[in-house]
Amino acid sequence: MVIVYPVRTGLYVNLTNRCPCACEFCLRQNGPGIYGSGNLWLDHEPSVEEVIAAVDGFLLRGEGTGRAPVAEDSDGTEFTELVFCGYGEPTERLDDLLAVARHVREIAPNLPIRINTNGLADLIHGRATAGDLKGLIDTVSISLNTPDADEYFRICHPKFGPESYAAMLAYTKACAAVVSKVVMTVVDEPVTSKENQKKCRAIAESLGATLRVRPFES
Ligand code: SF4
Repeated sequence: MVIVYPVRTGLYVNLTNRCPCACEFCLRQNGPGIYGSGNLWLDHEPSVEEVIAAVDGFLLRGEGTGRAPVAEDSDGTEFTELVFCGYGEPTERLDDLLAVARHVREIAPNLPIRINTNGLADLIHGRATAGDLKGLIDTVSISLNTPDADEYFRICHPKFGPESYAAMLAYTKACAAVVSKVVMTVVDEPVTSKENQKKCRAIAESLGATLRVRPFES
């Protein structure tokens, strides 16, 4: 199983396969991995110690990357970002994610840290969670997917029900108050029409975020 994997200049961390959604477009339906990651289906959720050991393998020893280690020269890392992403919703393990992020801050203080999320952390944990990210996470990327709450429920099937869309928007706004960069994402045409992209941009900007239109990959 793969806990940490490089994609281009990013180092990606695969914490969990749990997710409260069942999106109809989820890449997990296409195969066991993406971008040459190897198998992202976990036979167990790695402990914080296991994740840190895997991260250290890449960042401190350059294992399996052909890249220079970064610890003694963190400005010189060939990795430009560490990203919590993987085959599941990383905020399912929020405390463990933060523990790993704290470690990364120590060994590579200049390496930006991003979370790719569905934005439902508050519903997962039953409390406001954005404040936990303050001072530790540089970028939060939240899947907006559509400007329409009903359509969101129809295509993402969040287990928390139709109120999930509003919770995701509220989470975005809360993140924008404490994290320097908050991005909302949609997939380009034909998934998201230009008209809907325009609406999504307006929603993102009204919450203090920017919109990123991801390329469509068939
Ligand atoms: S939120 Fe992400 S991981 Fe979860 S089902 Fe949707 S696309 Fe897949």
